[in-house]
Amino acid sequence: MLNLRQKPCILVTGGAGFIGSHTVCELLDHDYDVVMIDDFYNAKPEVLDAIRTITKKDFVFEEGDCADRDFMDRIFREHTIDAVIHFAGYKAVGESVAKPLMYYRNNLDTTLTLLETMKKHGCHNLVFSSSATVYAYSEKMPLYESNPLGTTNPYGETKRMIERILTDVSHADPEDSFICLRYFNPVGAHPSGLIGEDPNGIPNNLMPFIVKVATGKIAKLRVFGNDYDTPDGTGMRDYIHVVDLAKAHLLALNYAFKRTGIDYINVGTGNGTSVLEMVESFRRVNHVDVPYEIVGRRPGDLAKVWADTSYAKKTLGFTAEKTIDDMCRDAYNYGVKHMK
Ligand code: UDP
Repeated sequence: MLNLRQKPCILVTGGAGFIGSHTVCELLDHDYDVVMIDDFYNAKPEVLDAIRTITKKDFVFEEGDCADRDFMDRIFREHTIDAVIHFAGYKAVGESVAKPLMYYRNNLDTTLTLLETMKKHGCHNLVFSSSATVYAYSEKMPLYESNPLGTTNPYGETKRMIERILTDVSHADPEDSFICLRYFNPVGAHPSGLIGEDPNGIPNNLMPFIVKVATGKIAKLRVFGNDYDTPDGTGMRDYIHVVDLAKAHLLALNYAFKRTGIDYINVGTGNGTSVLEMVESFRRVNHVDVPYEIVGRRPGDLAKVWADTSYAKKTLGFTAEKTIDDMCRDAYNYGVKHMK
């Protein structure tokens, strides 16, 4: 719950990253005070000025590691933090399989240190960046929040473990108000083209890969399988525009301020889009070629994944507004300007 002052102050961990930076823009646009933490492990310092340019507002930036107790303690001493949005964490599935200890150590340590520091300073409101990857395999779509959980890689397991930690912590303290947002497939970029997704090296995810192909940095897209049980045979996912996703965080914060307890909430559009539908939309809205070839299935991939979005609508009043065309247009606009 929030002791109402004029402007709530929100600590955003990992705020220079893809989803974090868009969320900070929304917070500043809605007159929140922001303290951002990032260690630039997977983000670039230029993002800070880009956010200031977009919003014409300033915020506090602290470079450091959320697992560093003294650093976190100083931040909570120097600022009256009303709520935390916790993005900081490693997020590459493949890397997590190769370096599981690194993922468990980092993602759990940062969260435990953050929670201990919040307790010490009497901060009870938290929105956590979770993922649809926490759900166990299901033949049937959509995925409901009540579906069984089960993960297939260390990255997903850290998300599931953190949800469990947050559950136990919130059960032990009636003042805690936590929300786990289970993201589906965030894509797109800010319409200004100033912030977006710029993965290091060759992208693993579909949209950044398409952008690299469309901008001539990679010769062609490899479509992983066209023999799935879907209308065109290619895999279907629930892509959500990152600006819509950022807005969901604001609604989640407002909800956290009004009640106590813990909720797990899907954030998607509720619609599945196939790989070939995405390629077609990208070509059409951007007037650019996206050469591709069909190759074998990627190990571990599912045929279709999409969200049931009724709980997000009921609890947060959230509905995604942007279309697949918006996602393709904004992703390309950012890619043309920024991708190396
Ligand atoms: N995909 C593809 N080629 C690529 C990357 C992804 O065909 O280079 C497909 C993938 O098989 C899946 C969809 O695009 O059906 C989304 O993949 P992504 O890695 O973006 O998301 P995730 O599978 O983790 O939901």
